[in-house]
Amino acid sequence: MPSFFQTKIEFLQGVGSNKAMLFEQELQIRTFGDLLQHLPFRYEDRTQFHTIAMLRGGLPYVQLKGSISYIKAAETGKKRLVASLKDQTGEVKLVWFQKIQWIRQQLRPGVLYVVFGKPTIYHGQMSLIHPELTVEASLETLPQPILPVYHTTEKLKARYLDSKGIAKLQQHLLRQLPPSITEFIPEYLRQRYGMINKREALLNIHFPESYERLQQARFRLKFEELFYIQLQLLQLRQVRLGKYVGEVFRDLGLLKWFYQVDLPFQLTHAQKRVVREIYQDLQSGNQMNRLLQGDVGSGKTMVAFLSMLIVLGSGGQVAMMAPTEMLADQHYQVLQQFTTPMNIRIAMLTGSTKPSERQELLAALAQGSLQILIGTHALLSDVVSFKNLGLAVIDEQHRFGVAQRAKLCQQNQPCVPHVLIMTATPIPRTLAMTLYGDLDVSVIDAMPVGRKPIKTLHYYDAQRLKVFRFIQEQIAQGRQAYIIYPLIEESAQLDYKNLLDGYESICRAFPTIPISMVHSKMKTTDKDYEMQRFVKGETKIMVSTTVIEVGIDVPNASVMVIENAEYFGLAQLHQLRGRVGRGSKQAYCILMTDYKLNEKSRERIQTMVRTNDGFRIADVDLRLRGPGDLVGVQQSGTLELKIADLGKDGKILQAARTAAKQVIHQDPMLVQPEHAGIKVQLDTIGRHAQHWSSIG
Ligand code: ADP
Ligand code: MG
Repeated sequence: MPSFFQTKIEFLQGVGSNKAMLFEQELQIRTFGDLLQHLPFRYEDRTQFHTIAMLRGGLPYVQLKGSISYIKAAETGKKRLVASLKDQTGEVKLVWFQKIQWIRQQLRPGVLYVVFGKPTIYHGQMSLIHPELTVEASLETLPQPILPVYHTTEKLKARYLDSKGIAKLQQHLLRQLPPSITEFIPEYLRQRYGMINKREALLNIHFPESYERLQQARFRLKFEELFYIQLQLLQLRQVRLGKYVGEVFRDLGLLKWFYQVDLPFQLTHAQKRVVREIYQDLQSGNQMNRLLQGDVGSGKTMVAFLSMLIVLGSGGQVAMMAPTEMLADQHYQVLQQFTTPMNIRIAMLTGSTKPSERQELLAALAQGSLQILIGTHALLSDVVSFKNLGLAVIDEQHRFGVAQRAKLCQQNQPCVPHVLIMTATPIPRTLAMTLYGDLDVSVIDAMPVGRKPIKTLHYYDAQRLKVFRFIQEQIAQGRQAYIIYPLIEESAQLDYKNLLDGYESICRAFPTIPISMVHSKMKTTDKDYEMQRFVKGETKIMVSTTVIEVGIDVPNASVMVIENAEYFGLAQLHQLRGRVGRGSKQAYCILMTDYKLNEKSRERIQTMVRTNDGFRIADVDLRLRGPGDLVGVQQSGTLELKIADLGKDGKILQAARTAAKQVIHQDPMLVQPEHAGIKVQLDTIGRHAQHWSSIG
């Protein structure tokens, strides 16, 4: 006999086989369990009353108490009924377009009504369209003050399964709920986190007795959802740790030497902490798989170099991959300054390395005399073979595919190299924990001292002359500026500013100033040539599309102007802004927009103006867009959470992760009797998370 939760939905009173089929087609609901998992997406609050004076457009559903003071009869031809509701504070219009005659007959002036609806501006007046009216005197009979609202579909509605219809079914179902439901989460965890039992959670998530009960039900169900995900990820991590032995690197000789003699600046505390974390991994005997997050300019390169020194000190080799030749070259130049005095052999391999040079370089690599190889994806070519690759550093991970990283790892058979992935794309902690839960995450959360925070300003297009004057002043002081456009060509649907038009107008505005232009349709060599001119300071203004987004370092550039900033996402705006402010001079980011901005655009711009903190920005981004749109998540496609919201439930996620860690630590194979339930649940959830392990 199937359990209660596995019982087919057609056996629920009021469903039957036709509706069951529809439920399956429309909402993938097949069983009692599925229906109970179809959770309300909001609740109608029948405990609170608004006064009419408090109404604003944009408020969610509100409840009012008042009497009908005036009814305008439905005019012929104009299918509409308008009435006026009055309380002590004011009047609001009630408007109906359907069932007009019937409603007209029901309305009685002078009677006190409880009215429920969503405030909307209609014909310039605050109105409730199709509100729900109940005579106040009859209200005592309302069984439930907080009512669930369910998603449904047109086809279901046609069969009377609108939100109310579904609520009725849920009520039937909940009445039949067995008196005790097997708990899978062990008693000790339920107690520690003060969880209500599963039965109460189900009852209260659908028909909350009170807000407090609703809160408790939500916590319980969200925790459960996130807890199993974390358990899966931690188990995967454990499998990885067991499978891949890591070469042990613990000699700190080289690192100390560099630290005492050549380190060009004091490390920040955050940098020190991360180096320690990496050192722990390198000497652990397990393979490191670490994601290093740090805002642009936080000094990830130095952390990478110090990690390299630990590996080099024990005779390992190091590879460092960058997404573009420009960036590889930049890393090469920077690291060379450090390695030359230390006699460390370093080389760069890209697509444009000459064949003769390449031969020599590959031989030295195989033989082990070449210690650091920097490059682009050319490093992944089959002919590149190290004698003993100990560490692979990957800069800006989101440009590298999973397969490519896997390839790098296979090149060195006996031991998989340690992997350090660096990214300036701030992934909100909550998301990183879910997505990269099987990786270890380090965060550089402080900037080097003396760095002046970038000033971000918002100007409307009409103020352009002022902005141009400002650029002029900065250039006169010896600085350089970027001007960024969102698109290369005019697009028919969208009124974007054309890069080429922009370039011309900037040339006109700055007739005596040398200007570079770079866009993605240019040949790589032309692009690099223009970039180099700007890097060397030969040109003062760089007009560009977003191709300069990642990495390029021109400390002398102090102004970043972003045209049509409303068309950029927050992550991208933040990346672009990070191109300036790398020197000691005050840097500026100027966001140009149209005068008209929608709500989300305005919030994005305001967030940029308000903060430089990449993680706070990422959190707003997550809230505005939802996790599905964020970098890296599209590929995973696994983030279909039923109840938890990664944008808002960071604390619960944290608790779920801590709990999962404790469970795995105490009982890695989940063999203890109190974990039998968890094991069953994980097995039924299946191997969903299989491919999560390879993300990052
Ligand atoms: P990112 O994290 O964006 O890769 P970089 O590693 O390129 O940042 O560092 C940005 C700049 O800051 C570099 O010029 C680097 O030399 C400098 N830098 C790094 N760490 C420190 C520090 N602790 N103090 C001062 N400057 C630092
Ligand atoms: Mg960098």
